[in-house]
Amino acid sequence: MLKPFSPAEVQEFFARLKKLDPEPKTELQYVNSYTLLVAVVLSAQATDKGVNKATAPLFKTVKTPEQMLALGEEKLTDAIKTIGLYRGKAKNVMALSKILAEQHGGKVPKDREALQALPGVGRKTANVVLNVAFGEPTIAVDTHIFRVSNRTNLAPGKDVVEVEEKLEKVVPDAYKLHAHHWLILHGRYTCVARKPLCPTCVVRDLCRFKEKTKELPAEKPKLKTPSRTKTLKH
Ligand code: SF4
Repeated sequence: MLKPFSPAEVQEFFARLKKLDPEPKTELQYVNSYTLLVAVVLSAQATDKGVNKATAPLFKTVKTPEQMLALGEEKLTDAIKTIGLYRGKAKNVMALSKILAEQHGGKVPKDREALQALPGVGRKTANVVLNVAFGEPTIAVDTHIFRVSNRTNLAPGKDVVEVEEKLEKVVPDAYKLHAHHWLILHGRYTCVARKPLCPTCVVRDLCRFKEKTKELPAEKPKLKTPSRTKTLKH
């Protein structure tokens, strides 16, 4: 059995990730909490880059549920047709926009239950919206966070809910708000799925992974993150 992290090691783990990127942001582009919600719904099983490509022109004119309803499902479907599962996602976005317009005054609710009641919004999407739009210290476990948490033995678990619960317990309060983004970025650019970049990893000595790589791959994955829209108006 792998040795669990001590509280001091967890503290050190996040202190180092923080040093790399003190104010991490989502790589999804959005202009307000509604467009963030739409972008997160569209990002299921798709890359942030692919979603941003489709939403950049869309969010120039559509920034509210009412504007989405005025656009209509057919035009939305066409606008997002480069994203996987776009037909179902377009239906969900129209349905959730209708509920927001009719039941929430056109606003995104700051409430997990109300968010998860929206079509296409599961626990992970609700966690991302609560964290990014409303500054709540939630941790949405995606494929990257699941991998990093298990590989390092920081918060091992057999499914995303178990990993989320363990992270909730072990991450110090001071790091909770940004833990989600630090772990995603670490998994996306360093602790990558196939061949992690262990020789350049800042938490290498803390990580419990038994098969750390000894050399970097000939062609390194892209380390630069794309530009991000930083303004958020509720
Ligand atoms: S040492 Fe390797 S396996 Fe461990 S966190 Fe870093 S990149 Fe991932």
